[in-house]
Amino acid sequence: MQQVSSALDASVLVLNKLFMAVHIISVRRAFCLLCKDLAEVVTLEDGQFSTYDFTSWREVSEFRALHYREEEDDWVRTASTQIQVPRVIRLVSYEKMPKHTVKFNRRNIFARDNNQCQYCGRKFPTTELSLDHVTPRSQGGVSTWENVVCACVNCNVKKGGRTPKQAHMGLIRKPEKPKRSPILSMKLTHKKYQSWRTFLDNAYWTVELK
Ligand SMILES: [Zn+2]
Repeated sequence: MQQVSSALDASVLVLNKLFMAVHIISVRRAFCLLCKDLAEVVTLEDGQFSTYDFTSWREVSEFRALHYREEEDDWVRTASTQIQVPRVIRLVSYEKMPKHTVKFNRRNIFARDNNQCQYCGRKFPTTELSLDHVTPRSQGGVSTWENVVCACVNCNVKKGGRTPKQAHMGLIRKPEKPKRSPILSMKLTHKKYQSWRTFLDNAYWTVELK
């Protein structure tokens, strides 16, 4: 399969058998699962779900390639045809429930803080950001969501081993544990992943049907 880079970089939301979001995976992995018939494509159009096995998704793709191409759609090319990159797939025999805890790691902290230095408020590439203990470890500060933020090198050096109060530096927002994966929240701002909302929004499942 030959792929356009943006198509390859896209992510696919994985649902369990009960249509609950459980993972986010790469496009390549999603196609592997589809090829092995371990998963099916789920689409949502005008409030209606449709599911497709790999063969029928290929057929639908061929039709869509000619008639319904949307700007935000991604495609992969094979020798003979084009297949649309699915945004959501469902593991047909996977029954495990989603995990609700968000991992406390560097990637998620950067994502929670939008790659923004929490002292000066400027955005930086990940390579130019560091993690700062709001209350420094030397003063008993711990490594938790509430005490670790992104900081640029300048602000980090300026603050040194002091608390924000001691350094006369304010935080632009109070650090908290995110309710949903920050990586996921970032993706949701993208038009490409609009269909994910339905599967992540609890209200969808509890709303009374008329
Ligand atoms: Zn800064």
